Amino acid sequence: MALAALRAARRAPWLSSTSSRALQRKLFSVSALRRNAAVTRDLMTGEFTSLPDIEQNRLQVVKSTNLRPPPPSSSLVFGQVFTDHMLMIPWSATNGWDIPKIQPYGPLSLEPCCTVFHYAQTVFEGMKAYRDGNGKVSLFRPDMNMKRMVNSAKRIALPTFDGDALLELIKELIRIDKHWIPQESGYSLYVRPTLIGTHKAIGVGPPNEALLFVICSPVGPYYPQGFKPVALYGTTEFSRAAPGGTGGFKLGVNYAPGVVPQKAAAEKGYAQNLWLHGPEHYLTEVGTMNMFVVFKKDNGALELVTPPLDGMILPGVTRDSVLSLARKHASGKNKLDGLTSDFIVSERPVTMSEVKAAAEANKLVELFGAGTAVVISPVDRIGYLDEDMLIPTGSDGMGPVSRVIYNELVGRQLGTIPSEWSVTVSES
Ligand SMILES: *Cc1c(COP(=O)(O)O)cnc(C)c1O
Repeated sequence: MALAALRAARRAPWLSSTSSRALQRKLFSVSALRRNAAVTRDLMTGEFTSLPDIEQNRLQVVKSTNLRPPPPSSSLVFGQVFTDHMLMIPWSATNGWDIPKIQPYGPLSLEPCCTVFHYAQTVFEGMKAYRDGNGKVSLFRPDMNMKRMVNSAKRIALPTFDGDALLELIKELIRIDKHWIPQESGYSLYVRPTLIGTHKAIGVGPPNEALLFVICSPVGPYYPQGFKPVALYGTTEFSRAAPGGTGGFKLGVNYAPGVVPQKAAAEKGYAQNLWLHGPEHYLTEVGTMNMFVVFKKDNGALELVTPPLDGMILPGVTRDSVLSLARKHASGKNKLDGLTSDFIVSERPVTMSEVKAAAEANKLVELFGAGTAVVISPVDRIGYLDEDMLIPTGSDGMGPVSRVIYNELVGRQLGTIPSEWSVTVSES
Protein backbone atom coordinates (compact mmCIF):
# COMPACT_ATOMS: atom_id res chain seq x y z
CA MET A 1 0.00 0.00 0.00
CA ALA A 2 1.42 3.39 -1.01
CA LEU A 3 1.85 5.49 2.07
CA ALA A 4 2.19 8.65 -0.03
CA ALA A 5 -1.26 8.10 -1.55
CA LEU A 6 -2.66 7.51 1.90
CA ARG A 7 -1.12 10.73 3.18
CA ALA A 8 -2.50 12.58 0.15
CA ALA A 9 -5.97 11.16 0.79
CA ARG A 10 -5.75 12.24 4.39
CA ARG A 11 -4.63 15.75 3.43
CA ALA A 12 -7.09 16.29 0.60
CA PRO A 13 -9.92 13.75 0.64
CA TRP A 14 -11.94 15.84 -1.82
CA LEU A 15 -9.28 15.20 -4.49
CA SER A 16 -9.54 11.45 -4.07
CA SER A 17 -9.08 9.10 -6.94
CA THR A 18 -10.95 5.79 -6.79
CA SER A 19 -8.00 4.04 -5.25
CA SER A 20 -7.39 6.67 -2.65
CA ARG A 21 -11.09 6.48 -1.76
CA ALA A 22 -10.53 2.83 -1.00
CA LEU A 23 -7.59 3.89 1.14
CA GLN A 24 -9.80 6.39 2.92
CA ARG A 25 -12.32 3.68 3.70
CA LYS A 26 -9.53 1.66 5.20
CA LEU A 27 -8.43 4.71 7.14
CA PHE A 28 -11.93 5.20 8.53
CA SER A 29 -12.30 1.63 9.63
CA VAL A 30 -8.92 1.76 11.31
CA SER A 31 -9.78 4.92 13.18
CA ALA A 32 -13.12 3.39 14.20
CA LEU A 33 -11.26 0.45 15.67
CA ARG A 34 -8.95 2.83 17.46
CA ARG A 35 -11.77 4.74 19.07
CA ASN A 36 -13.55 1.68 20.28
CA ALA A 37 -10.73 -0.25 21.83
CA ALA A 38 -7.79 2.18 21.94
CA VAL A 39 -6.12 -0.35 19.66
CA THR A 40 -5.18 -0.01 16.02
CA ARG A 41 -3.51 -2.02 13.26
CA ASP A 42 -0.24 -1.03 11.73
CA LEU A 43 -1.17 0.08 8.19
CA MET A 44 1.88 -1.62 6.68
CA THR A 45 2.04 -4.91 8.54
CA GLY A 46 -1.56 -5.28 9.77
CA GLU A 47 -0.24 -6.02 13.24
CA PHE A 48 -2.06 -4.70 16.29
CA THR A 49 -0.43 -1.77 18.00
CA SER A 50 -1.86 0.00 21.04
CA LEU A 51 -2.37 3.68 21.54
CA PRO A 52 -1.78 4.99 25.04
CA ASP A 53 -4.79 5.14 27.38
CA ILE A 54 -4.91 7.68 30.22
CA GLU A 55 -1.75 7.03 32.25
CA GLN A 56 -1.99 8.27 35.82
CA ASN A 57 1.72 7.60 36.44
CA ARG A 58 2.74 10.20 33.87
CA LEU A 59 0.91 13.01 35.68
CA GLN A 60 2.65 16.38 35.59
CA VAL A 61 1.73 18.96 38.22
CA VAL A 62 2.30 22.68 37.70
CA LYS A 63 1.17 24.46 40.86
CA SER A 64 -0.38 27.89 40.71
CA THR A 65 1.85 30.72 41.90
CA ASN A 66 -1.24 32.79 42.55
CA LEU A 67 -3.13 30.76 45.18
CA ARG A 68 -6.41 32.42 46.11
CA PRO A 69 -8.03 32.27 49.55
CA PRO A 70 -11.29 30.26 49.34
CA PRO A 71 -14.28 32.58 49.93
CA PRO A 72 -16.37 32.31 53.12
CA SER A 73 -18.69 29.30 52.83
CA SER A 74 -21.79 31.37 53.55
CA SER A 75 -21.21 33.41 50.35
CA LEU A 76 -21.09 30.40 47.98
CA VAL A 77 -23.54 30.27 45.08
CA PHE A 78 -23.73 26.94 43.20
CA GLY A 79 -21.16 26.68 40.40
CA GLN A 80 -19.79 30.23 40.55
CA VAL A 81 -16.38 29.80 42.20
CA PHE A 82 -13.62 27.42 41.07
CA THR A 83 -10.57 26.09 42.89
CA ASP A 84 -6.93 26.94 42.11
CA HIS A 85 -6.23 23.99 39.78
CA MET A 86 -7.70 21.92 36.95
CA LEU A 87 -6.81 18.62 35.30
CA MET A 88 -6.23 18.53 31.53
CA ILE A 89 -5.71 15.47 29.29
CA PRO A 90 -5.56 15.97 25.49
CA TRP A 91 -6.26 13.13 23.06
CA SER A 92 -5.53 12.64 19.39
CA ALA A 93 -6.49 9.85 16.99
CA THR A 94 -2.85 9.32 16.04
CA ASN A 95 -1.25 9.43 19.50
CA GLY A 96 -4.04 8.42 21.88
CA TRP A 97 -4.20 9.97 25.36
CA ASP A 98 -1.44 12.46 26.08
CA ILE A 99 0.29 13.20 29.42
CA PRO A 100 -2.21 14.30 32.10
CA LYS A 101 -1.50 17.68 33.65
CA ILE A 102 -2.76 19.43 36.77
CA GLN A 103 -2.25 23.13 36.22
CA PRO A 104 -3.60 26.49 37.39
CA TYR A 105 -7.32 26.98 36.67
CA GLY A 106 -7.69 29.29 33.68
CA PRO A 107 -9.04 29.89 30.17
CA LEU A 108 -8.67 27.35 27.36
CA SER A 109 -7.31 28.35 23.99
CA LEU A 110 -9.27 26.76 21.13
CA GLU A 111 -9.73 27.57 17.47
CA PRO A 112 -13.25 28.79 16.62
CA CYS A 113 -13.62 26.00 14.06
CA CYS A 114 -13.42 23.29 16.78
CA THR A 115 -16.29 20.85 16.45
CA VAL A 116 -17.42 21.28 20.07
CA PHE A 117 -18.63 24.80 19.25
CA HIS A 118 -20.70 23.77 16.25
CA TYR A 119 -21.99 20.26 16.89
CA ALA A 120 -22.13 19.98 20.69
CA GLN A 121 -19.39 17.36 20.88
CA THR A 122 -19.34 17.47 24.65
CA VAL A 123 -20.14 15.17 27.56
CA PHE A 124 -19.92 15.93 31.26
CA GLU A 125 -20.22 14.45 34.73
CA GLY A 126 -21.17 15.81 38.13
CA MET A 127 -20.02 14.35 41.45
CA LYS A 128 -19.24 15.64 44.93
CA ALA A 129 -16.30 15.36 47.34
CA TYR A 130 -17.18 15.69 51.02
CA ARG A 131 -14.89 16.69 53.93
CA ASP A 132 -15.98 15.47 57.35
CA GLY A 133 -15.37 17.06 60.77
CA ASN A 134 -11.96 15.36 61.01
CA GLY A 135 -10.86 16.62 57.60
CA LYS A 136 -11.27 13.25 55.87
CA VAL A 137 -12.22 13.69 52.20
CA SER A 138 -14.36 11.18 50.29
CA LEU A 139 -16.24 10.71 47.03
CA PHE A 140 -19.58 8.92 46.65
CA ARG A 141 -19.69 6.01 44.15
CA PRO A 142 -17.30 7.78 41.71
CA ASP A 143 -16.85 4.55 39.72
CA MET A 144 -20.42 5.01 38.48
CA ASN A 145 -19.64 8.50 37.19
CA MET A 146 -16.57 7.19 35.37
CA LYS A 147 -18.54 4.38 33.70
CA ARG A 148 -21.33 6.75 32.72
CA MET A 149 -18.83 9.22 31.24
CA VAL A 150 -17.28 6.47 29.10
CA ASN A 151 -20.77 5.47 27.91
CA SER A 152 -21.64 9.08 27.10
CA ALA A 153 -18.38 9.51 25.17
CA LYS A 154 -19.09 6.35 23.14
CA ARG A 155 -22.55 7.60 22.21
CA ILE A 156 -21.14 10.62 20.36
CA ALA A 157 -17.91 9.02 19.03
CA LEU A 158 -15.63 10.82 21.48
CA PRO A 159 -12.64 8.76 22.64
CA THR A 160 -13.14 6.33 25.53
CA PHE A 161 -10.65 5.85 28.34
CA ASP A 162 -9.73 3.91 31.47
CA GLY A 163 -12.18 5.28 34.07
CA ASP A 164 -10.07 3.98 36.99
CA ALA A 165 -7.05 5.96 35.77
CA LEU A 166 -9.13 9.12 35.39
CA LEU A 167 -10.54 8.62 38.89
CA GLU A 168 -7.03 8.39 40.39
CA LEU A 169 -6.13 11.68 38.66
CA ILE A 170 -9.32 13.34 39.91
CA LYS A 171 -8.45 12.22 43.45
CA GLU A 172 -5.03 13.87 43.09
CA LEU A 173 -6.66 17.10 41.87
CA ILE A 174 -9.00 17.05 44.89
CA ARG A 175 -6.07 16.39 47.27
CA ILE A 176 -4.20 19.40 45.87
CA ASP A 177 -7.22 21.70 46.30
CA LYS A 178 -8.81 20.03 49.33
CA HIS A 179 -8.57 23.16 51.50
CA TRP A 180 -11.29 24.53 49.18
CA ILE A 181 -13.83 22.00 50.48
CA PRO A 182 -15.90 23.69 53.19
CA GLN A 183 -15.99 21.59 56.35
CA GLU A 184 -19.44 22.73 57.45
CA SER A 185 -22.16 20.12 57.17
CA GLY A 186 -24.08 20.19 53.90
CA TYR A 187 -21.16 21.76 52.00
CA SER A 188 -19.04 19.92 49.45
CA LEU A 189 -16.82 20.24 46.40
CA TYR A 190 -18.70 19.78 43.13
CA VAL A 191 -16.41 18.03 40.62
CA ARG A 192 -17.13 18.57 36.93
CA PRO A 193 -15.28 16.30 34.45
CA THR A 194 -15.87 17.32 30.82
CA LEU A 195 -14.79 15.87 27.48
CA ILE A 196 -14.97 17.90 24.26
CA GLY A 197 -14.22 17.27 20.60
CA THR A 198 -11.55 19.72 19.40
CA HIS A 199 -11.26 18.61 15.77
CA LYS A 200 -10.12 21.71 13.88
CA ALA A 201 -12.54 21.57 10.93
CA ILE A 202 -16.13 22.31 10.05
CA GLY A 203 -17.82 19.00 9.40
CA VAL A 204 -19.70 16.41 11.40
CA GLY A 205 -17.73 13.25 12.08
CA PRO A 206 -15.69 11.51 14.73
CA PRO A 207 -13.17 14.10 16.01
CA ASN A 208 -9.45 13.47 15.49
CA GLU A 209 -8.68 15.51 18.61
CA ALA A 210 -10.35 15.83 21.97
CA LEU A 211 -9.72 17.36 25.37
CA LEU A 212 -10.73 16.01 28.76
CA PHE A 213 -10.66 18.48 31.65
CA VAL A 214 -11.84 18.48 35.25
CA ILE A 215 -12.71 21.58 37.29
CA CYS A 216 -13.93 21.83 40.90
CA SER A 217 -16.32 24.23 42.60
CA PRO A 218 -17.03 24.54 46.36
CA VAL A 219 -20.81 24.45 46.91
CA GLY A 220 -23.24 24.92 49.76
CA PRO A 221 -26.36 22.99 50.72
CA TYR A 222 -29.14 23.23 48.16
CA TYR A 223 -31.67 24.09 50.86
CA PRO A 224 -29.83 26.21 53.45
CA GLN A 225 -33.08 26.83 55.35
CA GLY A 226 -34.37 23.23 55.33
CA PHE A 227 -36.38 21.46 52.66
CA LYS A 228 -38.57 23.59 50.51
CA PRO A 229 -40.96 21.56 48.35
CA VAL A 230 -41.22 22.77 44.76
CA ALA A 231 -44.08 23.08 42.27
CA LEU A 232 -43.71 21.35 38.87
CA TYR A 233 -45.20 22.15 35.51
CA GLY A 234 -46.41 18.99 33.76
CA THR A 235 -44.84 19.73 30.37
CA THR A 236 -46.50 18.28 27.30
CA GLU A 237 -45.54 20.88 24.66
CA PHE A 238 -41.77 20.21 24.83
CA SER A 239 -39.87 16.94 25.25
CA ARG A 240 -36.50 16.42 26.95
CA ALA A 241 -35.88 12.98 25.49
CA ALA A 242 -37.41 10.55 23.01
CA PRO A 243 -37.08 6.83 22.25
CA GLY A 244 -33.83 6.25 20.36
CA GLY A 245 -32.58 9.69 21.37
CA THR A 246 -29.83 10.74 23.77
CA GLY A 247 -31.73 11.36 27.03
CA GLY A 248 -30.04 8.39 28.70
CA PHE A 249 -26.57 9.95 28.30
CA LYS A 250 -25.03 12.99 29.99
CA LEU A 251 -24.40 14.92 26.77
CA GLY A 252 -24.22 18.72 26.56
CA VAL A 253 -26.69 18.57 23.67
CA ASN A 254 -29.51 17.51 26.04
CA TYR A 255 -29.46 20.63 28.21
CA ALA A 256 -29.56 23.85 26.14
CA PRO A 257 -33.02 22.96 24.70
CA GLY A 258 -34.39 22.70 28.26
CA VAL A 259 -33.77 26.36 29.07
CA VAL A 260 -36.75 27.80 27.19
CA PRO A 261 -39.23 25.27 28.68
CA GLN A 262 -37.74 26.00 32.14
CA LYS A 263 -38.28 29.73 31.61
CA ALA A 264 -41.84 29.10 30.39
CA ALA A 265 -42.56 27.00 33.51
CA ALA A 266 -41.09 29.72 35.75
CA GLU A 267 -43.29 32.35 34.10
CA LYS A 268 -46.32 30.24 35.00
CA GLY A 269 -45.13 30.05 38.62
CA TYR A 270 -43.51 26.60 38.66
CA ALA A 271 -39.95 25.75 39.68
CA GLN A 272 -39.23 22.96 37.19
CA ASN A 273 -40.57 21.03 34.23
CA LEU A 274 -42.06 17.64 34.87
CA TRP A 275 -41.22 16.08 31.50
CA LEU A 276 -44.18 14.02 30.24
CA HIS A 277 -43.72 11.67 27.32
CA GLY A 278 -46.13 10.53 24.62
CA PRO A 279 -49.93 10.69 24.38
CA GLU A 280 -50.13 8.69 27.64
CA HIS A 281 -48.18 11.44 29.44
CA TYR A 282 -45.63 9.13 31.03
CA LEU A 283 -43.68 10.83 33.81
CA THR A 284 -39.98 10.76 32.94
CA GLU A 285 -37.79 13.26 34.80
CA VAL A 286 -38.02 16.50 36.79
CA GLY A 287 -35.86 19.32 35.37
CA THR A 288 -32.45 17.62 35.36
CA MET A 289 -33.29 15.11 38.08
CA ASN A 290 -34.67 11.59 38.18
CA MET A 291 -38.17 11.20 39.57
CA PHE A 292 -39.82 8.99 42.19
CA VAL A 293 -43.46 8.67 43.21
CA VAL A 294 -44.95 6.81 46.20
CA PHE A 295 -48.42 5.25 46.02
CA LYS A 296 -50.50 3.70 48.79
CA LYS A 297 -51.82 0.37 47.50
CA ASP A 298 -55.33 -0.93 48.25
CA ASN A 299 -53.86 -3.35 50.83
CA GLY A 300 -52.12 -0.47 52.63
CA ALA A 301 -48.58 -1.22 51.34
CA LEU A 302 -46.42 1.65 50.04
CA GLU A 303 -45.07 1.35 46.51
CA LEU A 304 -41.98 3.40 45.53
CA VAL A 305 -41.97 3.80 41.74
CA THR A 306 -39.48 5.24 39.27
CA PRO A 307 -39.56 4.94 35.46
CA PRO A 308 -37.30 2.23 33.98
CA LEU A 309 -34.03 2.98 32.14
CA ASP A 310 -35.60 2.79 28.69
CA GLY A 311 -33.16 5.16 26.99
CA MET A 312 -35.08 8.33 27.89
CA ILE A 313 -34.11 8.29 31.55
CA LEU A 314 -30.65 9.42 32.69
CA PRO A 315 -29.17 6.59 34.80
CA GLY A 316 -28.57 8.71 37.92
CA VAL A 317 -26.21 7.64 40.69
CA THR A 318 -28.70 9.05 43.22
CA ARG A 319 -31.54 7.14 41.50
CA ASP A 320 -29.57 3.89 41.72
CA SER A 321 -28.69 4.56 45.37
CA VAL A 322 -32.33 5.32 46.33
CA LEU A 323 -33.45 2.11 44.59
CA SER A 324 -30.72 0.05 46.22
CA LEU A 325 -31.47 1.31 49.76
CA ALA A 326 -35.21 0.86 49.20
CA ARG A 327 -34.80 -2.68 47.82
CA LYS A 328 -32.55 -3.76 50.71
CA HIS A 329 -35.23 -2.49 53.08
CA ALA A 330 -38.06 -4.21 51.17
CA SER A 331 -36.18 -7.53 51.10
CA GLY A 332 -35.37 -7.31 54.81
CA LYS A 333 -31.61 -7.38 54.09
CA ASN A 334 -31.05 -3.95 55.60
CA LYS A 335 -34.13 -2.50 57.31
CA LEU A 336 -34.33 1.28 57.50
CA ASP A 337 -35.66 2.77 60.76
CA GLY A 338 -38.92 4.63 60.37
CA LEU A 339 -39.99 3.02 57.09
CA THR A 340 -42.93 0.60 56.92
CA SER A 341 -41.97 -2.99 56.17
CA ASP A 342 -45.06 -3.25 53.97
CA PHE A 343 -43.02 -1.79 51.14
CA ILE A 344 -42.64 -2.50 47.41
CA VAL A 345 -40.07 -1.06 44.97
CA SER A 346 -40.92 -0.87 41.24
CA GLU A 347 -39.12 0.30 38.14
CA ARG A 348 -42.09 0.67 35.83
CA PRO A 349 -43.76 3.27 33.63
CA VAL A 350 -46.15 5.71 35.40
CA THR A 351 -48.71 7.90 33.63
CA MET A 352 -50.27 11.17 34.75
CA SER A 353 -53.70 9.50 34.80
CA GLU A 354 -52.41 7.01 37.39
CA VAL A 355 -50.92 9.83 39.50
CA LYS A 356 -54.08 11.91 39.17
CA ALA A 357 -56.37 9.01 40.09
CA ALA A 358 -54.18 8.25 43.12
CA ALA A 359 -54.26 11.90 44.21
CA GLU A 360 -58.08 11.95 43.97
CA ALA A 361 -58.35 8.71 45.98
CA ASN A 362 -55.93 10.01 48.67
CA LYS A 363 -53.42 7.35 47.63
CA LEU A 364 -50.66 9.62 46.38
CA VAL A 365 -48.18 9.60 49.26
CA GLU A 366 -45.38 11.73 47.82
CA LEU A 367 -43.40 12.65 44.71
CA PHE A 368 -39.75 13.76 44.62
CA GLY A 369 -36.78 14.44 42.37
CA ALA A 370 -33.33 12.92 42.99
CA GLY A 371 -29.86 13.99 41.81
CA THR A 372 -26.35 14.78 43.05
CA ALA A 373 -26.76 18.57 43.32
CA VAL A 374 -29.88 18.53 45.51
CA VAL A 375 -29.95 14.86 46.69
CA ILE A 376 -33.77 14.81 47.22
CA SER A 377 -36.19 17.50 46.09
CA PRO A 378 -39.76 17.10 47.43
CA VAL A 379 -42.69 18.25 45.26
CA ASP A 380 -45.93 19.70 46.66
CA ARG A 381 -47.83 20.71 43.51
CA ILE A 382 -48.08 19.76 39.82
CA GLY A 383 -49.73 21.97 37.23
CA TYR A 384 -51.27 19.60 34.71
CA LEU A 385 -53.67 20.45 31.87
CA ASP A 386 -54.76 23.75 33.46
CA GLU A 387 -55.35 22.28 36.90
CA ASP A 388 -53.18 22.16 40.00
CA MET A 389 -52.77 18.81 41.71
CA LEU A 390 -51.65 19.03 45.36
CA ILE A 391 -49.21 16.53 46.82
CA PRO A 392 -48.86 16.03 50.58
CA THR A 393 -45.59 16.88 52.35
CA GLY A 394 -44.75 16.73 56.08
CA SER A 395 -44.03 19.78 58.26
CA ASP A 396 -40.32 19.32 57.44
CA GLY A 397 -41.16 19.52 53.73
CA MET A 398 -40.53 15.81 53.10
CA GLY A 399 -42.61 12.65 52.87
CA PRO A 400 -42.45 9.38 54.86
CA VAL A 401 -40.24 7.57 52.31
CA SER A 402 -38.00 10.40 51.11
CA ARG A 403 -37.23 11.51 54.69
CA VAL A 404 -35.86 8.09 55.67
CA ILE A 405 -34.01 7.52 52.39
CA TYR A 406 -32.51 11.02 52.45
CA ASN A 407 -30.99 10.50 55.90
CA GLU A 408 -29.60 7.10 54.92
CA LEU A 409 -28.14 8.46 51.69
CA VAL A 410 -26.55 11.56 53.17
CA GLY A 411 -25.10 9.48 56.03
CA ARG A 412 -23.34 7.30 53.47
CA GLN A 413 -22.18 10.31 51.44
CA LEU A 414 -20.64 12.01 54.48
CA GLY A 415 -19.29 8.78 55.93
CA THR A 416 -21.30 8.96 59.19
CA ILE A 417 -22.91 5.68 58.09
CA PRO A 418 -20.05 3.41 56.96
CA SER A 419 -20.55 1.99 53.46
CA GLU A 420 -18.57 0.71 50.52
CA TRP A 421 -20.10 3.52 48.44
CA SER A 422 -17.83 6.04 50.18
CA VAL A 423 -14.36 6.19 48.58
CA THR A 424 -11.58 7.85 50.59
CA VAL A 425 -9.57 10.55 48.80
CA SER A 426 -7.54 11.77 51.75
CA GLU A 427 -7.51 10.84 55.45
CA SER A 428 -7.01 14.42 56.62
C1 LIG B 1 -27.23 14.25 36.08
C2 LIG B 1 -28.67 14.00 35.85
C3 LIG B 1 -29.47 13.28 36.75
C4 LIG B 1 -28.98 12.83 38.09
O1 LIG B 1 -27.87 12.00 38.07
P1 LIG B 1 -27.00 11.83 39.40
O2 LIG B 1 -25.94 10.90 38.99
O3 LIG B 1 -27.88 11.28 40.45
O4 LIG B 1 -26.51 13.18 39.77
C5 LIG B 1 -30.78 13.00 36.40
N1 LIG B 1 -31.31 13.44 35.24
C6 LIG B 1 -30.58 14.17 34.37
C7 LIG B 1 -31.23 14.62 33.12
C8 LIG B 1 -29.25 14.48 34.65
O5 LIG B 1 -28.55 15.21 33.80
